[in-house]
This record gives sequence, C-alpha cells and structure tokens, in this order.
Amino acid sequence: MMVANKPNLAGLSLENLRAFFIDLGEKPFRAEQIMKWIHQRGVVDIDVMTDISKPLREKLKATTNISLPKVVEDYLSEDGCHKWIIEVVSGSKVEMVFIPEAGRGTLCVSSQAGCSLDCTFCATGKQGFNSNLSIAEVIGQLWWANKKLGGFKDKMERPVSNVVMMGMGEPLLNFDNVMEALNIMMEDCAYGLSKRKVTISTSGVVPAIDKLKAYTDASLAVSLHAPNDELRNQIMPINKKYPIAKLLSSVSGYMDSLGDKRVAVIEYTLIKGVNDHRQHARDLAELLKSFPCKINLIPFNPFSLSDYERPSSSAISNFRQILQTAGYTVTVRTTRAYDIGAACGQLVGDVTDQTRRSSRHKRRSEQAVEDRKVFDSVDNLAVTADRL
Ligand code: SF4
Repeated sequence: MMVANKPNLAGLSLENLRAFFIDLGEKPFRAEQIMKWIHQRGVVDIDVMTDISKPLREKLKATTNISLPKVVEDYLSEDGCHKWIIEVVSGSKVEMVFIPEAGRGTLCVSSQAGCSLDCTFCATGKQGFNSNLSIAEVIGQLWWANKKLGGFKDKMERPVSNVVMMGMGEPLLNFDNVMEALNIMMEDCAYGLSKRKVTISTSGVVPAIDKLKAYTDASLAVSLHAPNDELRNQIMPINKKYPIAKLLSSVSGYMDSLGDKRVAVIEYTLIKGVNDHRQHARDLAELLKSFPCKINLIPFNPFSLSDYERPSSSAISNFRQILQTAGYTVTVRTTRAYDIGAACGQLVGDVTDQTRRSSRHKRRSEQAVEDRKVFDSVDNLAVTADRL
C-alpha cells in the first residue's frame, strides 16, 4: 500500500528494504532493524525506533510510511477461535481467523476481497470480486493477530505458529503480493515461520503453480473436492480451464522441486448428495494412487445463499474409511468457529462487488425461497384437499 507515493515499509520484503536503503544512501543493515521493529516488536511509530539515528528517522518520516489495514470488528468463538474483520484500502472488509489448538496456533489469511472463481460451495465466491490485497494488507493480518494475541510482548511465545493462505480469495491470482508477504512471514528477522508451517491453498491456477518454485518453498494444499472432471467442472468452474490431470501434474512438479519429504495436502469438502458417495471415495483413491499426498476431508459448513447440506456422520466416516483402507493418511477437519461464521467456506466479509455475481446469487436465492413458498402452499392445498 502506498500513501501519496511514499513506500509502505510494512509491505517491503527484506530484499526490497535493503534495496530501498541502498537507494537512500544508507547501509543495507537498516533493513533488518526496520523489519525487527515492525514485525517482531509490533512498532509502527518511527520515532520509537531508537537504534536508528534521529536524522535517518526524520528522513524516513518524510519519505515513507508504515501503514497496516484497520481491524474494524473482533469476534471470539465459544471454542476459542478469533475472527477479525479488516478494512482494506478498496473499502471492502475482509476476514481472517485464528484457530488455537494444542501445541499450535493457525492463522487463516485472506488474499483478496472476494473471489472471482465462484466455487459453488464457498461463501466468499458468492460475494463476487473486488480487489487484490496489497502486500501490507496480507502481512498485516499476521501483524494484527500477533498484536491482538500479545505476540509482540518480550519473551512471549508467538501465538501464530502456522499460516494457511486459505481465507478469502485465490492466493495465486494475487501472485506477486502473496509471494512477497510469504517472504516476510518466513524471514528470520520478521516472523521466522518455517516453510513447513506456511501453506498456500489453491483451487488450481496451473500457470501460477508452474512458476511457484522460483518464488517460494512454502507448503501446498490443493482444493480438489471432486474425483473426476465432470463433477469438478460443476462445482469448481476453474476446472474447465485447468482440468484435474494438468493440475496434479503441475502440483507434482512443485512438490518435487522442494527436495524434501513434504507431500501436497488434498482438500476435499464433503457435500451431501454431491460428492460424498462411497463411489466418489473409491474414484478418489484411484485418481490419487500415484500422487503422494495427505487427504483432508472437510464436512460442508452451511451458509445462506447455498442449498448444499452437510453429510451425515456415517457418510463422512464411510468416506474416510474407504480412503484409509486404500492406504491414504486422512484427516477430517473439525468444524471450528461456526458460531461466529468463521468455519471453513463461510468467510464473507463485506465485499463491494465489481462483478454482478453477488446480486445474481442473491436473486437466485430469493427466487428459490419464493418457489419454495409457492410449492409449500400448493402442497398444503393438496394435503387439505386430501383431508376433505
Ligand atoms: S473456494 Fe477459494 S477459489 Fe473457490 S470461490 Fe472460494 S475463495 Fe475462491
């Protein structure tokens, strides 16, 4: 984010900060100092940065800014999860979620205000699309989570140990800004997160996955959600452009480039009557038989504007069993933060839609309610007639 063309120091990676200080005629080590102040101590007031000389501080105040998104709403779930809504420069509001678990704390970070991809099971997709988040708006979510949870205090263990780029938006459609933000997350003099604990989750933007290895070595999760192209085309329109075979081949290329034992995580949202049959599980097992991966099953979390339903516990258990019997490591994601509308697939924020999608979905949903009312009244008439 730039204010009046001044560079925003909060959104510069170490490399770019070094280049900035060299351009300014200063020593490059100033970059580490600034990064530590902003991202390890949570300080955004240049006057407080006392290991930087006064003349340089004055110069920085005149030529730069440190600007982060504003937190406008703050929710705490009964299960200990937090949801914060941030306002971004475009005026949209975007959500991030912190999920505490034994031994770790995961922050689910958004990359876009809305999303252009319109997966049928996702509340964000129904909002349409407004804008990409800037680097500072992406890294600002991690900054705020630390600030709110006391992570900038001396000797305080960092509350956020893991980041998943799984909030609102498709991260690989905001490629440059997300890559820079990931660099800052993993930078030792900033948040120092391990590459194993930072995960990009993608719906399958194949050209971006193909070039990923040149920019990062973060972990990768793939939103698959269907075992064949026919079904995936119906629930994830991006599949028509990048079908499953191309997607898996591209992901294999990236995972091979990492040169370690990490495998991709396959995300599979289970939707009642859509993709949760035993045959779907068998087809999925067959599809992935030569693709090293772990499978994460996510029971669908209902939201308004969607008629989908969550499968029964036995359907979820059967699906899992078939995959486990086929030799896969399978987890079923526990629903968290449902009471604050922050469970998987539920994030909506407040997006000023640039497309006509949100109004189209609203119209369809209102029409469906009207149709149901007409249907119910016809049904009632029929029942009444039967009784007469
Ligand atoms: S699932 Fe991801 S890619 Fe699909 S619409 Fe939602 S945010 Fe976009």
